[in-house]
Amino acid sequence: MTKLNKHSVCIHTGEIKDEQFGGAVSPIFMSSSYPFLEVEQKRYPRYFNTPNQEVIARKIAVLEQAEAGLTFASGMAAISTTLLALLKPGDHVVFQNEIYGGTYNLICKDFDQLGIQYSFTDGVAVNDFESKIKSNTKIIYIETPSNPLLTITDIKAVAQLAQNNGIITVIDNTFASPINQNPILLGIDVVIHSATKYLGGHSDILAGVVVSQQNIIDQIFQKGIILGGNLSDFMCYLLERSIKTLGVRIEKHNNNAMDIALFLNNHSKVNAVYYPGLANHPNHHIAKKQMNGFGGMLSFKLDQSINQTEFKNRFKIIKPTMSLGGVETTILKPTLTSHALLSEEDRCKQGITDNLWRLSVGIEDIEDLKNDLNQALI
Ligand SMILES: *Cc1c(COP(=O)(O)O)cnc(C)c1O
Repeated sequence: MTKLNKHSVCIHTGEIKDEQFGGAVSPIFMSSSYPFLEVEQKRYPRYFNTPNQEVIARKIAVLEQAEAGLTFASGMAAISTTLLALLKPGDHVVFQNEIYGGTYNLICKDFDQLGIQYSFTDGVAVNDFESKIKSNTKIIYIETPSNPLLTITDIKAVAQLAQNNGIITVIDNTFASPINQNPILLGIDVVIHSATKYLGGHSDILAGVVVSQQNIIDQIFQKGIILGGNLSDFMCYLLERSIKTLGVRIEKHNNNAMDIALFLNNHSKVNAVYYPGLANHPNHHIAKKQMNGFGGMLSFKLDQSINQTEFKNRFKIIKPTMSLGGVETTILKPTLTSHALLSEEDRCKQGITDNLWRLSVGIEDIEDLKNDLNQALI
């Protein structure tokens, strides 16, 4: 078959042909019992190989230009299974300082007990990673753009550093989505997505995916069948349906977020805007080099003259809810939500202050979003 472009991959790649009735979409195969072959080859939902699971794995692998993939029940199932599969007691990991809260909790709560050593970087420059490498460093783990300040890590430079030292690189690519950023092309080994966000896109699915080269996926598979974090076939079907519109959704997220970032940047009641698409973002030049679009996430600092509770309660269509990546625009305050468990000192070190708000810009009409923000910013 000819090589398809991204929008066509979103729609067609991996789909199951309905041999029985000739229907236009993949049927759902809910069976948990299939003919017995050899142990490693048997079809079983926990073996990540039901027809509907394979649709998602194939689609994301092709979108990310990876050899193979696995479909998980959540982003955290994908992250925890990957790390536990690739690490053993005595290994060391270098983690980027700004990473997803759930990943941070996994490291801080469980790694000591597992005998796995770790360091967090002090920043995202290449020498921040380099200075933390030890003789037993097995993985460098990054997240870009990061949450909530949209910090940009130079993917190619970190991948090169890791390759020079024989270290595996893992990226959480959730914020960018496979439409905006393909880390494997920049030298990264393992790409993870919380499919709960842009891949699902409608705030009604919890899922995760991992893609990499076949031998790494084989290792993650071996741990995955023990931990049991596979996604149900019904959810795979919903996720396949969602991914069909991923390309068009992301284009709209990109355009809307850029417009909102410029609008907030010029607003007198906003003191700072963090968006990798803005020329004043400290790593805009790196973002421009490694991203096809700047994504739908941004954050900003409110002027002290605004009462923050009143601000939140004024919105007519923007929803003050958790999570991100849905078609609807949502807003939250990281100090009360995603970063509430960090100490104030740690938050301040990262620049997460009490007047910081994070916006997941949806795909509504831009005028309606601007109007809603404008009437709240008084
Ligand atoms: C939400 C999120 C996760 C975790 O995904 P779940 O599907 O909630 O388990 C991991 N990384 C990032 C960047 C996220 O935003």
